Amino acid sequence: MSEVLKTFYQNQAATIIKNLTKRGMEGHYCSTMDEAKAKVLELIGEPGKSIGYGGSMTIDDTDLKQQISDAGHDLIIRESYGPEKEAQSELKARMTNADTFLMSTNAITIDGELVNIDGMGHRLSYLIYGPEQVIVIAGMNKVTPDVPSGIERVHNIASPKNTVRLNCQTPCVQTGVCAKCLGHTICCQVVVTRASMVKGRIKVVLVGEELGY
Ligand code: SF4
Repeated sequence: MSEVLKTFYQNQAATIIKNLTKRGMEGHYCSTMDEAKAKVLELIGEPGKSIGYGGSMTIDDTDLKQQISDAGHDLIIRESYGPEKEAQSELKARMTNADTFLMSTNAITIDGELVNIDGMGHRLSYLIYGPEQVIVIAGMNKVTPDVPSGIERVHNIASPKNTVRLNCQTPCVQTGVCAKCLGHTICCQVVVTRASMVKGRIKVVLVGEELGY
């Protein structure tokens, strides 16, 4: 990465972190994903914490989950729960009461708002309420000028890529462009996090790399 881009990311992140603070959220900047993983482990704290996570290519493209398990934490492996009502009910209870919920964000604005769009909304429900703290890991490619451009980013970049990954039957899976579908859509819930009522509950780790969708 060029020195110019490194400095640009640092400067932009400093502005976002200042704006997150005024919204009751905590911001950190790491220039690499390796630094970010160390920061996440530091924020999680002493061994023995329960850790949930949402679907995220940013997280899945790293060994962060393995590092969390190796550090002696109780990683809630959601994929290991079956579809039965009892299993899902136990998973929901564990996730809601987790010490930390890990996720990325579909977009983050310069002014410090988080923009996310989900199908079922599991990920967003834990962002909004439940886990003691939420750690959001976001590459600087997720930064947008404002909320409308953040929503636009999700519809025309994140969701069309996710529909290909998930082999969905949506218009964007063929065209790469949002058609504002309503049938088999993965864009059901649009959530803008403009502030955290519990000060410092949401911690954003910005990373000076292109990560995830
Ligand atoms: S076409 Fe549908 S699923 Fe694809 S981005 Fe648009 S609203 Fe979302």
